[in-house]
Amino acid sequence: MTKPLAALIALSLAAPAFANTPSPRPTLEQAADNALGGDVHAWDFVEGITTEVGQRQAGTEAEARGRAWAAEWLRRKGFQNIAIEPFMMSTWVPGEPGKAEIVSPFPQSFAIAPLGDTASTGPDGITAEVVMFKTVADLVAAPEGSLKGKIAFVSNTMTRTQDGSQYGFAGPTRWVASGIAASKGAVATVIKSVGTDSHRNPHTGGTDFPEGVKPTPAGALSNPDAANLERMFRRADGKPITMKLVLTPRFLGETESGNVVGEIVGRNPTLPPVLLACHLDSWWNGTGAIDDGAGCGIIAAAARNVSVVGQPLRTIRVLFAGAEEVGLFGSVAYSKAHIDEPIAVGLESDFGADRIWRFDSNFRTSNPALHKKIAAAVVRFGVSSGTDVAGGGADLNIVRDQKGALVDLQQDGTRYFDLHHTPDDTLDKIDPVQLRQNVAVWTQVVGILANEETAILTGTPVPAAPPIMGAK
Ligand code: ZN
Ligand code: ZN
Repeated sequence: MTKPLAALIALSLAAPAFANTPSPRPTLEQAADNALGGDVHAWDFVEGITTEVGQRQAGTEAEARGRAWAAEWLRRKGFQNIAIEPFMMSTWVPGEPGKAEIVSPFPQSFAIAPLGDTASTGPDGITAEVVMFKTVADLVAAPEGSLKGKIAFVSNTMTRTQDGSQYGFAGPTRWVASGIAASKGAVATVIKSVGTDSHRNPHTGGTDFPEGVKPTPAGALSNPDAANLERMFRRADGKPITMKLVLTPRFLGETESGNVVGEIVGRNPTLPPVLLACHLDSWWNGTGAIDDGAGCGIIAAAARNVSVVGQPLRTIRVLFAGAEEVGLFGSVAYSKAHIDEPIAVGLESDFGADRIWRFDSNFRTSNPALHKKIAAAVVRFGVSSGTDVAGGGADLNIVRDQKGALVDLQQDGTRYFDLHHTPDDTLDKIDPVQLRQNVAVWTQVVGILANEETAILTGTPVPAAPPIMGAK
């Protein structure tokens, strides 16, 4: 190397004179734009937890590893007041992979997954005639006792909607059909999956049995298999269709689950905090990437991005709830433990990782200035201002219990129910570009809310906080 060239390189490597000048903090808008250009935190969370932990069935050792992993992630990202808040729950596990076989008249196997909180057929299974119902309403109309010794099959089909509203129409097939069928004497229930895909991936999920009705075995058939079973009814010429079911879920009794919390502490910790929620548990059959690893990554990334702008006025608390899927145990436990601590506003992310397209609040009429301020700030991300009254997500029980302020950042759910509660809930289904838009919008909105001086629900001035005596 020639001397002049070496000198040139040395010069170029030398620290510039202004190297010690701290780089200026970004504005909130710049922080949001930076997330749009290259979020790393949300992706890092969801990639990390799906790779290093995987499925996180509620109440199990895997969920406990998820809590420890998430608490450590928050610590590494600079969150404070990180805690794992344990609670006990009745824990259900799915057992061996389920089997559903048509014995006659057209013998073949179907893909099936047990539904949460349902009973076992025992390892030898149950063989019985199948009775088909198009809808839950048809099942309700079946005479009492008419299903004695039979397997009920509900073949209701879910359709695709951007806002996910079809879940409200199709969901009862999973939530209540097996309880209704059991109350009419059915020995088991199978349903067409509550999902919009056409793969041989059954969609599991929670189900409820009414008080006094003994849980029966119940499972979801994959959509193409359920369609096959419907065709069999058309082609069987009235001959009985017999199915053998082997489903072996069981209850483990009381085990420990827990919530994970962490904070970006605000400049005025006496003001009620902004609460951002998601859930940490997942069903056993996927890795909980879109449901709800992405949600936890999104809320934590937004909180961290806001902290980069400068210490927010209000504390931002993240709540990674445990045991949501199997009955909102974490949400209920959190509300019970913290009901006396007022929350300024609650937001939840639990609808995948695709883009935000609309926001709703429950203060559009009581605090129109703030609603409009948020609307103006998110329009550049293609987000419209909604007129629905925000209801908050499943893990925001505490805010509803306190009748507090809520913001719903509505995600595009067009493909969510292709993946929801299936083995296909894996990291590769997350579109990084849409995830970045999502984090950008969350950053913008959380930044506004965490720096809001007046009461968020009403816009009225917050009473002056008493002076903090000494630092604790
Ligand atoms: Zn969820
Ligand atoms: Zn779910």
